[in-house]
Amino acid sequence: MTHAQHVSAVLALGSNLGERSDTLSVAVGDLIAHPDVRLIQVSEVVQTRPVGGPGDQPDFLNMVMEVETTLAPLDLLAHCQDVENRHHRVREVRWGPRTLDIDIITHDQTRLETEKLTIPHPRAAERAFVLQPWAWMDPDATLDGVPVAELAARAADLDGLRLYDPETDEVGG
Ligand code: ATP
Ligand code: MG
Ligand code: MG
Repeated sequence: MTHAQHVSAVLALGSNLGERSDTLSVAVGDLIAHPDVRLIQVSEVVQTRPVGGPGDQPDFLNMVMEVETTLAPLDLLAHCQDVENRHHRVREVRWGPRTLDIDIITHDQTRLETEKLTIPHPRAAERAFVLQPWAWMDPDATLDGVPVAELAARAADLDGLRLYDPETDEVGG
């Protein structure tokens, strides 16, 4: 019998509709309630201006988390989408407002480019709302060989990013 391989995966979560902070924390719980997904660490939550899509939509709360999983990439995607659906995610406008978005940023060293799934996430390297919480969570993280902190510092949307305090529902400077 072969043993399923445990790998580390980084997931990015975002919400800009409804009770954003509660949605994120419940979603983290949902993601790791799966028997084949174990929590390694979660990042701080940041509040960010929307990137792409309609310009008048509310600010996002974003965070990343690292999990250990035996799920293959497509099974992990199915699980993430299942959790999105539980939070009443509806897809209307591309990059439009949503109660919950869960993207797979990395899955071990997996490189994949299919219609349903691209890993590493093709737009992660330019998104401060993914890179900055990731770099704070894991200062040694790299993406395609480049330090995540370095990518974050260069990202165009870094200006609009603020640390969010779930206790007070306030953002820092
Ligand atoms: P973006 O991918 O730019 O962050 P989005 O998250 O708003 O946009 P979604 O509507 O959540 O896009 O997803 C559209 C499709 O993207 C999904 O149905 C999924 O099949 C596909 N997809 C491809 N690569 C990934 C990935 N790494 N993580 C999550 N979904 C992915
Ligand atoms: Mg996304
Ligand atoms: Mg998505």
